[in-house]
Amino acid sequence: MGPAVKFASRKRHLIAGNWKMNGLLEDVGQFTDALNDNPAPDHMEVALMPPFTLLYCMAEPLRQKDVRLGAQSVYFEKSGAFTGSISAMMLRDVGCHYVILGHSERRDIIGESNNMVHAKLDAAWNAGLEPILCIGEHLQERENSKTNSVLAEQLSVLEAASVDVPLTVAYEPVWAIGTGLTATPEQVTTTHAFIHGELARMGHDCRVLYGGSVKPENAASLMACPGVEGALVGGASLQAESFNKIIQAAASVAAGE
Ligand code: PEP
Repeated sequence: MGPAVKFASRKRHLIAGNWKMNGLLEDVGQFTDALNDNPAPDHMEVALMPPFTLLYCMAEPLRQKDVRLGAQSVYFEKSGAFTGSISAMMLRDVGCHYVILGHSERRDIIGESNNMVHAKLDAAWNAGLEPILCIGEHLQERENSKTNSVLAEQLSVLEAASVDVPLTVAYEPVWAIGTGLTATPEQVTTTHAFIHGELARMGHDCRVLYGGSVKPENAASLMACPGVEGALVGGASLQAESFNKIIQAAASVAAGE
């Protein structure tokens, strides 16, 4: 690989916490009290995606800290007989700005297909939500040099989308999610360059986050990789203390660009 080229990103970076299926009402006060204000609001935004059950009660305390609210998934139909599902308009109604789509846990455990992700993107945009589209390869795919083709296929859901839609992409190598393994800065840099190239080919100029075992100890070096414009943080977002440290590390990098 040649010398690293520093991206002069004009986009505000994003640090987003994905609580997955964690969190009870009793956890909310302690977490939001301990969450620091965004240290670099001109350069970076912060968001949190708690489970559906906590969206309503977290909306106001997070708003007071200038933290945007997001959901972890959505159903693509508008309303009706879809027991157990939540629509995009319901998420808007409760104060969400973001919705995570295509997370590997939904693709692999729930069986969400690219077609479903496509339908959910449209539902999110129709309701005024900003999707965070997650893409990423499995370890075997990386080892078989399939990373780029897997990512291109997952990104193809954006092919027909207007270039004006609100959009964030998160590159999350599946083998790095919740495993303690992280992609090396070289892998992250190369892969983000590929993703930015694919997005540019389709006319999209959006942020690309990195996700996969981001922690206070590795946040600064991952955020400093060219083409990385924030992070999607799972496990380390559950405690305000570690989430604060990641936000602080990312803010220093974003503000220094
Ligand atoms: C995630 O849930 O998107 C994620 C990256 O999880 P973790 O940080 O725990 O690997």
